[in-house]
Amino acid sequence: MVGDVSCDDNGIVNVQVKLTVAACPLKDKIGTDVQNTVGALEGVTEVRLTMSAMTDDERTALREKLSGPQREIVLNKPGSLTRVYCVTSGKGGVGKSSMTANLACALADEGLKVGVVDADIYGFSIPRMLGVAEIPTVIDNMIVPPVTTTDETGIGGIKVISIGMFVPDGQPVIWRGPMLHRALSQFLADTYWGDLDVLLLDLPPGTGDVPISISQLLPGSEIIVVTTPQVAAAEVAERAGTFSTQTEQRVVGVIENMSYLPQPDGSRLEIFGSGGGAQVSERLQASLAYEVPLLGQVPLDIELREGSDAGKPVVTANPDSPAAQAIRGIAHKLAHRARGLSGRNLGVTPL
Ligand code: ADP
Repeated sequence: MVGDVSCDDNGIVNVQVKLTVAACPLKDKIGTDVQNTVGALEGVTEVRLTMSAMTDDERTALREKLSGPQREIVLNKPGSLTRVYCVTSGKGGVGKSSMTANLACALADEGLKVGVVDADIYGFSIPRMLGVAEIPTVIDNMIVPPVTTTDETGIGGIKVISIGMFVPDGQPVIWRGPMLHRALSQFLADTYWGDLDVLLLDLPPGTGDVPISISQLLPGSEIIVVTTPQVAAAEVAERAGTFSTQTEQRVVGVIENMSYLPQPDGSRLEIFGSGGGAQVSERLQASLAYEVPLLGQVPLDIELREGSDAGKPVVTANPDSPAAQAIRGIAHKLAHRARGLSGRNLGVTPL
């Protein structure tokens, strides 16, 4: 976006910035950032900024430079090093979105480059939980996701995109089957992620149209199942996990949320019973015939709820709270998983 830059003997710098569109919502911020950054350089006495808008050809060239001439889901390309995790649950309200938002922060805190897709199309909540109010920038049909900031969320640089960002406020999403698939496909192909280490997808609960489409669009993605300790929740969560046999995705593990309420005397009040997470893990292990670990048990925590409502996830707002510690433990396991060979270029050519 930077055009001509020149400097005269008196330290006056002329900078030309080409906005992607004339009415760019970030115009003021870009202007201030350039003024501050260039103005702070040694010898600079004045910054004279000229802003103009890119031509159609310049926008196309920028889009091609960033994402290549073809529209395709780059995360599927051989050699992509991005791990894609679909966070799923049997039913709603078990804390799937809260886990996704907090895991994103905890993984970013581990030093990973993280992106989040809110694909819970009937109940999108991720942008609010991560304190992202901005809308994406669109350059020649390429969607550049907004990022979290350190001021708001406590950790910056997490790329966040939600189908909710493309639906007028308060309007329900009424797409079904094929239309939904096309929308998701376009959404994944048109979003510019850069080089991510991890992409988390917050799926709608259950085994409906969205999880099926995602499994087809991102066949290398893996599944994380969220449940509560309650038997009824565990049974439906198990179904969400065994769904993976049909989609040929791998289940990475199970998170038990709302496991207990820590008491002032150190004991645990098991409001929703106990054992649901372990049950899902054992049963999935038996039916899938590979190890499906219980990745962690996250306690009930008022600060987790408050943090989600305020856009300041508990893992960054209060990293020492029991819920934050449990989620950080899970993120640590995910961040240090050995990478399989799937999707990697082995450097061999068939004869
Ligand atoms: P889902 O995505 O499964 O529908 P949410 O993440 O939206 O669930 O969580 C449902 C509600 O429960 C939210 O109000 C959230 O803040 C709250 N919640 C989730 N996990 C916890 C927890 N461990 N402690 C306290 N509140 C929680």
